[in-house]
Amino acid sequence: MSLAATWRAARPPAAGLHLDSAACSRQSYAALDAAARHARHEAEVGGYVAAEAAAPVLDAGRAAFAALTGIPDGAVVFTTGSRNALELLLSRWPGTHRTLACLPGEYGPNLAVMAAQGFTRWMLPVDRDGRLQLDEAAATLGADPPDLVHLTPIGSHRGLVQPLAEMVAMCRGLGIPLVVDAAQALGQIDCAVGADAVYSSSRKWLAGPRGVGALAVRSDLAELVAPGPAVGDANVAAQVGFCVALGEYLTAGPAAVRTALAAAGARSRRVLAQLPGWRVVEPADEPSAITTLAPLGGADPVAVRARLIAEHGIVTTAAGVERAPGELTAPVLRISPHVDATQGDLEVFAAALAGGAGAG
Ligand SMILES: *Cc1c(COP(=O)(O)O)cnc(C)c1O
Repeated sequence: MSLAATWRAARPPAAGLHLDSAACSRQSYAALDAAARHARHEAEVGGYVAAEAAAPVLDAGRAAFAALTGIPDGAVVFTTGSRNALELLLSRWPGTHRTLACLPGEYGPNLAVMAAQGFTRWMLPVDRDGRLQLDEAAATLGADPPDLVHLTPIGSHRGLVQPLAEMVAMCRGLGIPLVVDAAQALGQIDCAVGADAVYSSSRKWLAGPRGVGALAVRSDLAELVAPGPAVGDANVAAQVGFCVALGEYLTAGPAAVRTALAAAGARSRRVLAQLPGWRVVEPADEPSAITTLAPLGGADPVAVRARLIAEHGIVTTAAGVERAPGELTAPVLRISPHVDATQGDLEVFAAALAGGAGAG
């Protein structure tokens, strides 16, 4: 069976057309069942006893996350998501007048976390598309190194892929720790390239449950993520589901999934290139399954998203400027098919969009 067919057969059929993996992918039967079984086990033997019994599954999940983030002998902790991971890391980062460098297109909620944790922020140099300019970045970072560089290799607001591996090499050369927000990158591009800390969410491209994520850090940063006295409760059932999703992702083959997702992005942009009233934001062959459409004729992406759900059962995202306040100037409509989206699915979406582009 092809990867697309395997992926599709492994989960419940979609009620309509799901083009929203960057928001929340569709879980597999195996991930759903594992989480439900764990919850049931909690009812049978007690929540804390069940958690002990799940330890091997959770260990395997942490090891899978460490492998996928390229931090094999580091420390991995489960979080409630990506934002929670950044909060944890920055709240414990040493120093007082702390500084970091990030992209102008940084995820808006991350900017809020950075500010709340008292970090002074510098912007990395980018070209007109928002892509990191490596030579200029090396010069700026070398001249005045911040405490850390925070890189979001793929944002929420567009499917542009930043040069992660090159940035890892540069930061290592300069001796600056590199922290990576892999909420969108993990699953879509190779993140096992040697960053110092990598965090991600379960529900996006790895197709695990909502409300869980993980953070991996190099072993000498392990004390930053050691459980403190104020650690709250955890949804162990969701962690178990995430571990199963990680295992399924590894079984499917990270390189094969990445290639298929890049192909889904290229296919989307080919189908949508001539759509009246909308402009495809990404370069046609950008290796990401995220495609965003900017309205040309005044359509409102929020209203269009609602209409697509109500009239066509098509799930997409309207991404507002708050997702990247330093880069987005107007809302865009985002589609993010997983590996099982067909050419026909994308044509159905294009036709639905064209059918009411002005009215949206
Ligand atoms: C979704 C997203 C986040 C936040 O993830 P949560 O798990 O909801 O906290 C952070 N960064 C990017 C780039 C995202 O797309």
